[in-house]
Amino acid sequence: MSSTSLPSSSHIPSPHTRTADRHAFWWSLAGVLAILITFLWRGDVLIGFLAVAVIFVPAERLVELRPQRILRSGWRTDVMHYFVSSALTTLGLTLVTVAAALGVRMFIGSHLGHAIASQPLVLQLGESTFLSAVVQYWVHRASHTWPVLWRFHAVHHSIRTMDWLASARFHPVDQVVTRGAAVIPITILGFAPVTFGWYIVMDALQEFFVHANMRVPLGIFRWILPNPEFHHWHHAVDREAWNTNFSGYPFIDLLFRTAYMPKGRRPRGYGIDQDVSTSYLGQLLRPFHPEAGSCAGEPSHEAQLLVKEEARKGFPGRQLVAEEHSPPGA
Ligand SMILES: [Zn+2]
Repeated sequence: MSSTSLPSSSHIPSPHTRTADRHAFWWSLAGVLAILITFLWRGDVLIGFLAVAVIFVPAERLVELRPQRILRSGWRTDVMHYFVSSALTTLGLTLVTVAAALGVRMFIGSHLGHAIASQPLVLQLGESTFLSAVVQYWVHRASHTWPVLWRFHAVHHSIRTMDWLASARFHPVDQVVTRGAAVIPITILGFAPVTFGWYIVMDALQEFFVHANMRVPLGIFRWILPNPEFHHWHHAVDREAWNTNFSGYPFIDLLFRTAYMPKGRRPRGYGIDQDVSTSYLGQLLRPFHPEAGSCAGEPSHEAQLLVKEEARKGFPGRQLVAEEHSPPGA
C-alpha cells in the first residue's frame, strides 16, 4: 500500500525565502533586459566589455593583490559608467577633436605637419605617446589643484576598491578634458591618423591595467612602465602619497618630481573624504552641487580616520591594515 507523506516543515518555503526568490527573479530579468538593450544600443562596446572581463577577471584571481569579491560594492555603478559615460565621452571627444583640427591647423600651417607626417611611423608613435603622456600629466595634475576641474575628477577618486572595472568610473566631462587635451596635440600637429587610434587603444588598456587588483612584479621597470602598484598610490588615503603619481607612466612623474612608490608597502586604503553619491546619476550630477568643488582633491586626515573606522567594522580595509605589517610579497 502506498502512502502519501506530508512534506516536512523544512521543505516548506518560508515567506522570507519566497520574497528572496521573487527578488532574485526580477533582478535576473532586469539583468537579461539590460544586456539585451545594451547589445542593441552598443553591441561593439558590450563585446569589448566581455573581452576585457574575460582577460582581467581570471588575471586578478591569478595574481591577486588583495582578497576581494569580483562583484564588489559599486560594481553596478561602474558598469553604467562603462557604457553610458563612455558614450558621452566619445561624443564630446569627437566634437573637441574636430573643432581643434579645423581651428588650429589654420594657424599652424602645413609645413610642420608635413615634417611630422613624413617621419617613420615608429618615430611618430613614440613622439605622440610621449607628447600625449606629458600633456595628460599636467591636465591630471591641474584636475587635483583647480577646484573647477576637481568637481568632476572627484568622481573617479570616490573609488574605494581598486580593480579593472574601477577604471570606468569617470565623469564624462573629466574624460573629455583630460583625453581631449592629450589628443589635441596629436591631431593638430599632423601625426599620422594611426597615432590617434594607437593613443585611444593604449590609453584604454593602460587604464584597465593600472587600476587592476593585480600584483605584477616588474623590478626596476616599475619606474618606467605603467603598473598597478604605481597608480594605486595615486588613489591612496595615505598622507605622504597625496598629489603624486599623476601619469600612467612612472618616468613622467620622476621627471616632474611627483613619483611615489615606497618599496615593500601598500596603500592603507583608497578614496576621499568628500561626499560622493554611490549611484550613477548621483555621480553624474555631483559636480554641479554648490559644495562639490570647495577644495582640491586631497584625502584628508578625516579620510584616514574613516578607513581605520571601516577596518574596525570589517571593511576590506582590515586586510589592508593587516598587510601593512606583513613582510613584502607575503
Ligand atoms: Zn587623479
